[in-house]
Amino acid sequence: MSTPEQLRWQESETVRNLLKKQNSLLGDSLEALDHLIYLQKSINLLSSDEICKVMVEKLPFILSVKHFSFFLFDKNHRRLQLMSHNHPELNEGLSIYQNDSPIMKEAMTTGRYIFEQDFASSRYFRGRKNPLFKCEFFVSIPLMIENEIIGVLNLNDNDKGFYNVGDLDFALNVSEFVALSISNALLFETVEKISITDGLTGLDNHQQMQTLLKNEVIRSQRYSSPLSIIMMDIDHFKNVNDTYGHQKGDDVLLDFATTMKKFCRSNDVAARYGGEEFILVLPETKVDGAFNIAERVREEMASQTFKYKGKEFNVTVSCGIAQFDPKLTRDPADLIKIADQALYKAKHEGRNRTVIGSP
Ligand code: GH3
Ligand code: MG
Ligand code: MG
Repeated sequence: MSTPEQLRWQESETVRNLLKKQNSLLGDSLEALDHLIYLQKSINLLSSDEICKVMVEKLPFILSVKHFSFFLFDKNHRRLQLMSHNHPELNEGLSIYQNDSPIMKEAMTTGRYIFEQDFASSRYFRGRKNPLFKCEFFVSIPLMIENEIIGVLNLNDNDKGFYNVGDLDFALNVSEFVALSISNALLFETVEKISITDGLTGLDNHQQMQTLLKNEVIRSQRYSSPLSIIMMDIDHFKNVNDTYGHQKGDDVLLDFATTMKKFCRSNDVAARYGGEEFILVLPETKVDGAFNIAERVREEMASQTFKYKGKEFNVTVSCGIAQFDPKLTRDPADLIKIADQALYKAKHEGRNRTVIGSP
């Protein structure tokens, strides 16, 4: 039997414990709120890559989960592309067909989150249990912008052993602004990409080539590293258009761009200079290296056969080469002028050839 004294003490002890627990919960919430504010402030200004990195850093803590994965939806191919995650067993660059994940597919087609406290015994479960996971809940939240699905956020596992309504509610709010920030960043990146890309061939456009060439010239001057460019022009291209039509002409341009790309290294710049003229900027390359590349592109192009309504035809290109020489060439314009003069000479000497220019 407890005395009234003991009972009172027990009661006050219970209240003390409750207060302690409340304080610690409040502390946790305040900390989570801090992270949330940081997340909200920072990810609005970032690129999609940077947002994905911040997610790895902050999301597990803010959402009280051990693991998360964020997939972007490619609606043309109906595929989900893994963008950010902290799973121990997912491969970077993973891309899966939408139908291969029943839980994500349902979240996306219904536009509603799916929450399974015990994923392994749910109808979505396929394959084997993951021994790395302590508990079995799985949340799949569709990320939507104006009724359009842009991706899915999946959450699993924590130390508590379960996910409650409060956690979920919070996760839904967070996922809304993650969706908004990601879609803004992607939109911005798409517009940026369009502004530097040639619409027909997908190569860098004239403007972008000028910017990159300027940087390469500065680099070449600073480090005395070689730099060459190749100007290429399709021979008698007007005839191609006139004989086989503009559409076929476009096909030839596209094909030429693909051939150029084939002989490019990762640091080379392949650009459409305008019309049927193209340019290759080759950092760390002397004139003889550039000559080899030009000849390979030229030969590959000449060996291809194009078809139009049962007729076959060939297309050749002429190339002019210039190497940057800090003593004789001052700027990108000089370099282009030399390559252009060499190209003119190649045309004059009969086309389908490469000429090396001199300052
Ligand atoms: P050359 O061997 O001297 O270079 O002769 P060419 O006929 O190739 O040169 P010209 O400058 O006379 O003609 C270039 C043609 O390229 C004219 C133009 O209609 C065509 N052209 C420019 N841009 C495009 C394009 O985007 N698509 C198509 N199909 N044709 C284009
Ligand atoms: Mg031409
Ligand atoms: Mg031309």
